[in-house]
Amino acid sequence: MFEPCDCGSGQTYIGCCGRLHSGTPARDAEELMRSRYAAYCRGNVAYLIKSWASETRPPSLSLDASQVWTGLTIHRHEMTGPDTATVRFTARWRQGKKAGRLTETSRFRREGPGWVYVDGDVG
Ligand SMILES: [Zn+2]
Repeated sequence: MFEPCDCGSGQTYIGCCGRLHSGTPARDAEELMRSRYAAYCRGNVAYLIKSWASETRPPSLSLDASQVWTGLTIHRHEMTGPDTATVRFTARWRQGKKAGRLTETSRFRREGPGWVYVDGDVG
């Protein structure tokens, strides 16, 4: 069965963000960003915590199950240094009868074999 990835890449989940969720390091910040979006879609809190920089990581995270993520658009992926990058994206959501979008420029850092999310500016 073809299970499309939540991040909208057009690939299968297993061949896309599923690989990262099961331990393959992200090759770049955009790949990590996509995998974190897919983790929000799937309620994968453990992955969200693991892919968060230790100094900005929340001690715990509870997701609102009534908020459904409905799409991701990546606007820009930019290296800002040898080991740092930003990704600007819009994520769309629905909650009951309400719908909205979140646009953020997120900062990422290379760490070990992969990347971690540091923080972001909304808007
Ligand atoms: Zn994906």
